[in-house]
Amino acid sequence: MTRLKGKTALVTGGSRGIGEAIALRLASEGADVAVCASKSLASAQSVAQKVEAQGRKSLALQADVSVAKDVDTLIAQVLDAWGSLDILVNNAGITRDGLLMRLKESDWDAVLDVNLKGAYLCVKAASRAMMKARSGRIVNISSVVGLIGNAGQINYSASKSGLIGLTKSIARELAGRGITANAVAPGFIPTEMTAALSEEIQQDLIRQIPLGKLGSAEDIAAAVAFLASDDAAYITGQVLVVDGGMVM
Ligand code: NAD
Repeated sequence: MTRLKGKTALVTGGSRGIGEAIALRLASEGADVAVCASKSLASAQSVAQKVEAQGRKSLALQADVSVAKDVDTLIAQVLDAWGSLDILVNNAGITRDGLLMRLKESDWDAVLDVNLKGAYLCVKAASRAMMKARSGRIVNISSVVGLIGNAGQINYSASKSGLIGLTKSIARELAGRGITANAVAPGFIPTEMTAALSEEIQQDLIRQIPLGKLGSAEDIAAAVAFLASDDAAYITGQVLVVDGGMVM
């Protein structure tokens, strides 16, 4: 498929897991893809090499999305290299789980800072170029937990619900400039983020999924590629749930 031919994309947290799958899928559909990692430039470089192996251009970049200065530099690096940024995927995310009474204020702040403030900073920095171009695609990676909540994840679910509000508000603000903003809400996808969950919890989750299996990072990447493409030109402010039917 070449739905994204000639487009440029940035995937935050693109160095592993769902972000890596998104970067590779966008490249396979023809986009040049910048990959941003928070700490390990080497892991971003390894994904960038896989993008280049598909015949696309890539940039391996390092930024903490919760730091405005880092984000401004990140977006400037993409624009300096390619002159445009057509697709922004806010995928960077962390968890610091704990039940309400035990959750530390620092755990609340860390998760909201990366998952929600990070998306706000990236949208703000990237949308200037998109507004000038009078086109753009923003895809925010939320979670089913942002729709239904989860005991032990008040910080994470609040950040993922917040991303939905942010998505709908920027969809309304930026629609007049030809920019769409949508969210993808994954169900349970085995990655390093979810590796700590016991086999028992995973089996219990599978029992709640009508399609009877866990999702893959590629399932999420396919939804992102669709929302980033012209096939989704008339879709904005939506939450696409990719969870095997767990939440409906
Ligand atoms: P992961 O831990 O494997 O990857 C997270 C990525 O975010 C990493 O590349 C990491 O470097 C990056 N990151 C973390 N903090 C950052 C920061 N401050 N600045 C820049 N980058 C930072 O997790 P994943 O499972 O691949 O998750 C990707 C996204 O999907 C996250 O937003 C997560 O909340 C969401 N999600 C995951 C699942 C799941 O089941 N795995 C379900 C729903 C939503």
